[in-house]
Amino acid sequence: MPTPETARHQLDLSPHERREVEAEIGRLRQASPVPVIMAPGYYSDSPLFPCAPLTLQEYNLDYRGNLTLCCQLSGVAGVNAGTELMGNLHELSLAEACTRFHQRVATYVADKQEQVRRGAFSMLDHFPCWYCMKYMNKVAWLSLFPQHPWAEGDGETVGERNHGDVGSTGTPPP
Ligand code: SF4
Repeated sequence: MPTPETARHQLDLSPHERREVEAEIGRLRQASPVPVIMAPGYYSDSPLFPCAPLTLQEYNLDYRGNLTLCCQLSGVAGVNAGTELMGNLHELSLAEACTRFHQRVATYVADKQEQVRRGAFSMLDHFPCWYCMKYMNKVAWLSLFPQHPWAEGDGETVGERNHGDVGSTGTPPP
């Protein structure tokens, strides 16, 4: 997941490179004698990626008592830190926090469905955790790195401009 720190050190793979790595993991999955899996975040054809938090199968509680939308988003620094927060168990009950969580997920899913319906779902939005980072307004730092491969503008990404074989619809190269 790109962060200001990884961007500063130019460590981030472009979307195209990410998909190449994911394809390699897919090949290893077929050949490996031990199970090989990927954690959520990889490219998903389905806009409604069924990760554990968004299917209400997982709750993330941090060491401060914060119930957050998910562990991936928990504690991401920056001006919008806290948008993933459902509540703190020092201030409300677990049942109340879970009710907020369920309401937040329902809003999230409805917003995403509406975005898909409007045809405003970009290739980058098919990387579900990156979509969440954007949805939670946690990527404003990208403006500091206009050439970053995950920066979007004019309907395409810098990564796409560098690798024209990844289509804007997210269709993988043959
Ligand atoms: S960041 Fe979003 S898509 Fe990724 S695991 Fe968390 S809730 Fe699911």
